[in-house]
Amino acid sequence: MGTGNLIFSSKKGVELDYYGRAYAGTLIYNSTMPNSLLNGVIAHEIVHIYQVDDFISVNSYMDKLNNNSRFFNSKIFDWVYLDINSLITVGAYSLEGINKQCYYDNYFEWEANLFSERDICD
Ligand SMILES: [Zn+2]
Repeated sequence: MGTGNLIFSSKKGVELDYYGRAYAGTLIYNSTMPNSLLNGVIAHEIVHIYQVDDFISVNSYMDKLNNNSRFFNSKIFDWVYLDINSLITVGAYSLEGINKQCYYDNYFEWEANLFSERDICD
């Protein structure tokens, strides 16, 4: 599949009861799910990756900080990438999910469902 994202499969999701997860630009899907669900799950998780990249744009400003800061110019950041977008998205996702009747009432899940054929709330 030409998504440009790394896609992994695993059986370890069985005990965690999920079909797919998106992590830092990659996604993993449950290899035991029915094949008929695969395209929908991958589409759903790719939208989550796009949400991290495009919904929050703090990472875009990090280059400017890198140029002007002794801290950010230290050698550690030649090897470590501060993915602030992911941290903010995880926080926003968690806050958005508070007091929702259905898992898919969370805006991030709702948006991902617009581009895939997954569960919806009743
Ligand atoms: Zn989702």
